[in-house]
Amino acid sequence: MRYPVLILSVALSWLSSAETTVFRGFTLIDGTGKGPQPDSAMIVTDGRIRWVGPAARLKIPAGAETVDCSGKFIVPGIINLHGHLGNVVGLVQDPKNFTRQNVEAQLATYARYGVTSVLSMGSDQPLIFDLRAEQRAGRPKLTRIFTAGRGFTGPGGYPTTAPGMKGVPYEVATVEDVKKALAELAPKKPDILKIWVDDHLGKEVKIPLEISTAIIQEGRKLGLRTAAHIFYYEDAKALAERGLYATAHSVRDKPVDQALINAMKKSGTWQLGTLVRELSVFVFSEPPDFLKDPFFTMSVAPEVIQTIDSPAYRKRLQSDPDVPKYRGFLKTAQQNLKTLYDAGVKVGFATDSGPPARFSGFFEHKEMELMTEAGFRPLEIITIFSKNSAEFLRMSKDLGTVEPGHWADFIILTKNPADDIKNMRAIDAVYIAGNRVR
Ligand SMILES: [Zn+2]
Repeated sequence: MRYPVLILSVALSWLSSAETTVFRGFTLIDGTGKGPQPDSAMIVTDGRIRWVGPAARLKIPAGAETVDCSGKFIVPGIINLHGHLGNVVGLVQDPKNFTRQNVEAQLATYARYGVTSVLSMGSDQPLIFDLRAEQRAGRPKLTRIFTAGRGFTGPGGYPTTAPGMKGVPYEVATVEDVKKALAELAPKKPDILKIWVDDHLGKEVKIPLEISTAIIQEGRKLGLRTAAHIFYYEDAKALAERGLYATAHSVRDKPVDQALINAMKKSGTWQLGTLVRELSVFVFSEPPDFLKDPFFTMSVAPEVIQTIDSPAYRKRLQSDPDVPKYRGFLKTAQQNLKTLYDAGVKVGFATDSGPPARFSGFFEHKEMELMTEAGFRPLEIITIFSKNSAEFLRMSKDLGTVEPGHWADFIILTKNPADDIKNMRAIDAVYIAGNRVR
């Protein structure tokens, strides 16, 4: 007789301590690709979605708090698979900036824009693993961290010559160097490995193919997948043929073709778009239309806006002969992303936001606009940033769509994003693990 009593007391203590919130009356866009479902309801208990369905079938649990969402829309939180955390203050990039305070401030900015998870791609300090561990021990109140830790390049390789990047990635010359770096990195359990494979339009040193291949192969032995910053078609193809998990940017030098599609499909290589990365190179050479947009200015310091809106800043960009080329690279990136998607290559959502003048949060919404220009429909974009991107992270059991069992990471909107992806900006509230963060 002792067991039923024990079970009853455990059940009672669970009931009294469980935190349950009911959301009702909203139109659901769940991220699975299904169309909008009006008159929906959802029960969230202790940060996870317990039930979601038609409001008519809702059974409100005793003691639940109810949130009336009539006339509103619920979509999954945005997962950004390519960001950079913690190194930038204002417009200055420096690993000295990588403090708890600065990382958390950036995560809070992402959260305000509905970005509920971010994969930081290779520019982190060891502190990132502590912050990630704290989040994973409970219910985070900031954007969820995924991280590559330190990325890889060759000795003196791109991007170590960029301001504030020396000493940030590992610089590996030999397979032995690769093994040594992985022996340090792998025990920290990075969510992915990152390599920079680029000569920056011929101006920098590119890591040789055999060393990149060693990273992919040695990583795989340790159960780690590799994403590569690429620019050129030839690098994307060679690395996909060697088992690369993801290209962290679009191919930008030429149109993709069937040979690349075949290689990516054979290796299961994911494509990340990062269209705003191209935009960021040239967009401030003229005053952009969003400079005074409250959705932009709400997260950007006035002195930063003053700088990027100054004639001196514009002049510096206008005098760089490479800057105008990025308009063309953006077009190529847009076409290639759509071509690969239409051919059935797996596409995740990514922006490369975080470095100077690549504004976290705002740029994720700009990315959706550029994807729309490239021919993606709103529901496709929503599925890409939720379901697909959770699958990329191998987190489909916990994250991604608005479905039972998943963490309650979602956005409440006042306008329908299925009509126009720009309605993703009409943010009423953002939740991470059931915690309201905006
Ligand atoms: Zn990046």
